[in-house]
Amino acid sequence: MSQTRIPILDLKPQYQAIQAEIQAAVHRVLESGQFILGPEVREFEAAAAAYLGVKHAIGVNSGTDALMIALRALGIGPGDEVITTPFSFFATAESISNIGAKPVFADIEVGSFNLDPNAIADKITSKTKAILPVHLYGNPAAMSRILAIAETHNLKVVEDCAQAFGAVYKGDCISCDGTCADDIRDRIQGQRVGAIGHAGAFSFFPTKNLGAYGDGGLIVTNDDQVAELSQMLRVHGSKERYRNEILGYNSRLDAIQAAILGVKLRYIDTWNQHRREVAETYTRLLANVDAIVTPAIAAGHVFHQYTIRILNGQRDRVHQRLADQGISTMIYYPVPQDQLPVYQGQYPTYPVSEKLAQEVLSLPIWPELTLEIQEKIAHALIEAVKESGQASIV
Ligand SMILES: *Cc1c(COP(=O)(O)O)cnc(C)c1O
Repeated sequence: MSQTRIPILDLKPQYQAIQAEIQAAVHRVLESGQFILGPEVREFEAAAAAYLGVKHAIGVNSGTDALMIALRALGIGPGDEVITTPFSFFATAESISNIGAKPVFADIEVGSFNLDPNAIADKITSKTKAILPVHLYGNPAAMSRILAIAETHNLKVVEDCAQAFGAVYKGDCISCDGTCADDIRDRIQGQRVGAIGHAGAFSFFPTKNLGAYGDGGLIVTNDDQVAELSQMLRVHGSKERYRNEILGYNSRLDAIQAAILGVKLRYIDTWNQHRREVAETYTRLLANVDAIVTPAIAAGHVFHQYTIRILNGQRDRVHQRLADQGISTMIYYPVPQDQLPVYQGQYPTYPVSEKLAQEVLSLPIWPELTLEIQEKIAHALIEAVKESGQASIV
């Protein structure tokens, strides 16, 4: 029997569906001879800003650069502290460290995997300048409580939206019923992530919900000054060529990538909707399995990842068992940022984040994932978890 491997992500069906449009867009850029910034980048920036509901969008080289430039454009730098989540891809903390500031970690919530607003207050010092929540796996963070803390302490808020293009904020609680009184929540409800804080940073790494065919990133803001500084920072700190005013970067979004992203932006709502349907199907297929905790299908979540928890210390065994059967699953993230070798000995452990790092398992997800494949994955997963149960009895 030939067993086809199930990848964690398959980008081919999406490309096949829009191939003609992508090729026309790439061809147009090749014919234009304009490869760095120029009209393609401006048009994509305008379309992305309109979609996200922000005044300014600035295309850059990567999501990591978007974070660094956004932080610097907000005046954050050496000696400053930025409160963020331990449970994210290292680019989050790295961007803070790379601009000379210090990442200060606050633990996460079990249900959302996101920064726990109740853990933030304790971490605020006279050096704290900003809070950097991550909308992990595509799930909006608890932005109304985060904004409330930021307003009280006069802090900036930079959203790491790398995994959450198109996600919509619908309240802090996983199943917000909108009955608790909250002015800030009412003000921001219905906004897309990135439009909520002082600045937002997106990644167009090919595997993200809105992915380019190469690296790319975007800074969004409603603040004219932050936008102008971001535009300067992406071109060596200059407004005019050869009049460099500050130390910047070479960090521009390629015109070819902008043209590709302009095509893909038209489909993002459909793709995100399909991701939600895939997530709902997994949750149905995996309901009532002991030792598996499925993620809540939170309103506004765009399911960059569908991440379950496997309890009783069986995660690594189940992960391996599925790999042996040709089913790829991923652990995002096996080591919280604070415990990475780069920060060795600098931070205590954060118990919730530490525990979830041992339990999380992300299942294959992409918009075109079929029910047939999902059933195979769910079946193999349930069998693997049952074997674990028997193993622990014996
Ligand atoms: C992908 C990612 C980034 C970095 O984006 P790049 O475009 O790869 O630089 C930052 N933060 C999070 C949470 C990410 O998932």
